[in-house]
Amino acid sequence: MSKWQKHQPDTDTVEFQRELHQVCRARSRLVVCFYTLPLYIAALVLLLNEGRSVVMFMFVYMAVYAVFAIDMVVKKCPACSKQFYVTAFFLNFITKKCVHCGLSCTGNRRNQQEPGGREF
Ligand SMILES: [Zn+2]
Repeated sequence: MSKWQKHQPDTDTVEFQRELHQVCRARSRLVVCFYTLPLYIAALVLLLNEGRSVVMFMFVYMAVYAVFAIDMVVKKCPACSKQFYVTAFFLNFITKKCVHCGLSCTGNRRNQQEPGGREF
């Protein structure tokens, strides 16, 4: 057994899969929040046209967005224990792979070993 193989976590354990699932769920929540932005803007315009206050509506949306973003930032990769979506300073919410070790949300590490493999 090589040194590299010795330090690989057992990806078949229930705990590993549960952690990986939680990491993927965090991304899904923020992506849903991002794609509902046009609906939020449309609702904002409607409320403003009716002369209603939008302060509470804006506060709730921003709070939900912030909570989901923070939840995504703090998620750690079950394989390498580094932040799954954050490199040095930037949150990458497009990728489905760990930005450090290449572990996919589906648990597939094959692309990490292939130079020139597809990144998306
Ligand atoms: Zn990783």
